[in-house]
Amino acid sequence: MSALRLSPVVQSLKPSATLAAAAKAKDLKSKGINVYDFTLGEPDFITPANVRQAAVAAMEAGHTHYTPSGGIPELKKAVCAAYKRDYGLDFTAAQVLISNGAKHSIHNVIASLCGPGDEVIIPAPYWVSYSALVELTGALPVIVDTSEASGFCMSADQFRNAITPRTRLMMLNNPSNPTGATYPVDQLEALARVAVEHDIPVLSDEIYEKLLYAGAGFRCFASFGADVAARTIIVSGVSKAYAMTGWRIGWTIGPVEVIKAMDNLQSQETSNPCSISQYAAVEALNGPQESVEAMRCEFEKRRDYVMGRMRPWREKFGVTFAEPGGAFYAFFNVNSSFGKPLAGGHTVYNATDFCTALLEQAHVALVTGDAFGAPGYVRLSFATNIETITAGLDRIEAFLAG
Ligand code: PMP
Ligand code: GLU
Repeated sequence: MSALRLSPVVQSLKPSATLAAAAKAKDLKSKGINVYDFTLGEPDFITPANVRQAAVAAMEAGHTHYTPSGGIPELKKAVCAAYKRDYGLDFTAAQVLISNGAKHSIHNVIASLCGPGDEVIIPAPYWVSYSALVELTGALPVIVDTSEASGFCMSADQFRNAITPRTRLMMLNNPSNPTGATYPVDQLEALARVAVEHDIPVLSDEIYEKLLYAGAGFRCFASFGADVAARTIIVSGVSKAYAMTGWRIGWTIGPVEVIKAMDNLQSQETSNPCSISQYAAVEALNGPQESVEAMRCEFEKRRDYVMGRMRPWREKFGVTFAEPGGAFYAFFNVNSSFGKPLAGGHTVYNATDFCTALLEQAHVALVTGDAFGAPGYVRLSFATNIETITAGLDRIEAFLAG
């Protein structure tokens, strides 16, 4: 056994809590149990037909070889064109790196900028993989807690106060997973000013940029001027907006020297992202955009339904939450149910036990807020059909009612 001793870094690495929760729900389903599964944040829609056809055409055309490690020129060009079309922003192909999903893009950024002893500022609640990927490099996550009252947005003062001489990066996620928070433009700009003032690079994860509700707006972090863009690495991709999670295409846009460094890293680690997926992503970005809006509308209906059902829970059960302006998650605090009798004779004292008991009792699968640096909270992904949502909410309600 000793020959197979694992490295200390990998030994301390936890599996992704979202993927683990989804696997647990799947396992129960395979045993014949009807699980109401709200674990995974991925669109339930199939990838649009024009994109699927582009993949078939790419295969038929023989695009089945290695590509340049950082992606095909057509896709880099399509990314630049999309930012011009959607936000009026000018980027060159040399500023773009295509990777195997946005998660890989995030890893590339952290691995290229951070090392042992560095500090990375992360507002909480944060997406599960942020802290894990920072720790993988030996850097230290510096968690800045935000509150429901502030709409789960970090203020410029909080950012400034967290900066030390060891700060190497700040990681922002707008719109946010798990909270659905969307930053007001002035607050975003204030963060950008602090980044410039203290010369701190910012990883701006904008993967949910197209999924906005109830009038919420979106501003690309790099859009606040050349001084901000010089310190910003945008992360995004096709996974959420085009229902392409399985294709594994994400990108980073940033200063050329960082993009080059990440390309080197990628060329050693993974070579290129899947050639066929890259051609599909070109069609996603260049082709008709109606399906993006159609899916957004469907998510908005579900979001409105979920919020309509949950609002009375405030008074009824003491559940609290901030309404999501983007992404597809409801994130709510179930603290008030701790230590009280819940359905089936369950009593729980934290969010992780709440999720376990809910799954056992009501066959409803949520993800614990503990995984997102938010004790007391649970996350419900409403990227699933309305029948499951309706029945699942009925069951959560009955569980809370005791
Ligand atoms: N960032 C956030 C905030 C996410 O929720 C996710 C997960 N979908 C990702 C990045 C990774 O996306 P991808 O599936 O493209 O790797
Ligand atoms: N980002 C999605 C989620 O939070 C997918 C799971 C993952 O990549 O960890 O559920």
